[in-house]
Amino acid sequence: MKALSSKVSGIASSATMDIADRAKAMVREGIDVISLSIGEPDFDTPAHIRKACCEALLKGETHYAPSRGIPELLRAIAGKIEGENHFPCSADQVIATAGAKHAIAMAMEACLNPGDEVILLDPAWVSYEPCVLLAGGKVVHCKLNQRTFQPDDSLQDKITGRTKMIVVNSPSNPTGAVFDRKALSLVADLCTDYELLAMSDEIYEKLVYGKEHVSLASIGDMPTRTITVNGFSKAYAMTGWRLGYAVAPVEVIKQMTKVQQHGVTHPATFVMWAGVTALTGDQAPVEAMRKEFEARRMYLMDEFSQLKVQAAPADGAFYAFINARGDDVEVAEHWLNKARVAVTPGTAFYAPGWIRISYATALPRLKDAMNRIKSVWNQAPDPRRSGSWGL
Ligand code: PMP
Repeated sequence: MKALSSKVSGIASSATMDIADRAKAMVREGIDVISLSIGEPDFDTPAHIRKACCEALLKGETHYAPSRGIPELLRAIAGKIEGENHFPCSADQVIATAGAKHAIAMAMEACLNPGDEVILLDPAWVSYEPCVLLAGGKVVHCKLNQRTFQPDDSLQDKITGRTKMIVVNSPSNPTGAVFDRKALSLVADLCTDYELLAMSDEIYEKLVYGKEHVSLASIGDMPTRTITVNGFSKAYAMTGWRLGYAVAPVEVIKQMTKVQQHGVTHPATFVMWAGVTALTGDQAPVEAMRKEFEARRMYLMDEFSQLKVQAAPADGAFYAFINARGDDVEVAEHWLNKARVAVTPGTAFYAPGWIRISYATALPRLKDAMNRIKSVWNQAPDPRRSGSWGL
């Protein structure tokens, strides 16, 4: 066989999925592992959304649809953006995608030329870099502020003549930080001054605890230069449905539509009908899930504060991001082997010395996991890379 693509060979498999797979393998062997490594709500999709999908299937919504998505969904998304995210949006600025991740990948394909630089704010979610690389771009890493986990003035130092885009993710995976208006305005000003595009991944927007979610595109001239990415996986517990979307200037959407047409064609038609119901139907389940996450977050953060562990603010999403007080990979190994708890080492997010703990697990199980972690707490490996991110 001739050599396969060097572009793809050079890309690592998803570190978050690797540890989750290992935990699953241990469970298959009959070992009682608690996985706090996944980024998936443990709730089922609300019943009225599942019903809408069944009805769409029974009505025969089983055919090809327009490649940007069914007009009803595009209109519902545009209405949601204007009403909740506070920036102008018409239906022709929207594309429905097979998950938010797919929107990110297609946006990179549509925007980047070889060698274009994309700035990521570390700690950053695992899939941005591979999406940039597969699209032929180059990643430039910029550390978030080490105390606040927000963007700060140091961002400007990373901008070069080749910078094309800055990626912002608030609420953040993995830190749980929610970027405030001041930090987002700083990003917006730089984008405007240097004529850059921005990608704003707002998939966790519904999961904020006492903080305001601000959309980057609601600031200044950002509607003309922002690709806002969102989806149904987290807010509506719809991970398996693979439905997301992007909102962007029409020119970007036109290019993304070509990528979609020649790839997946469009998300599944009946799934898009479920998406319409998710956005326009009863929102009470979204708040009920948020409240449950909030209770778990309070429990977990209280435990870590008692243990005097340094933690990121955890104002949003469903992750606690804590200082590993040692080599993060070794600590995660240790917890998996000795405490039977799976967590994700910060190295996966360019933040060695830190650990991401997902609290998308029911409270009793979370308490069990914490007790297990505490039972091996003092046997952790030597603090060699302790908190080395940003230090
Ligand atoms: N962005 C972030 C920050 C995420 O954490 C995830 C899921 N882990 C996604 C995007 C992708 O979500 P989807 O299931 O809609 O592809």
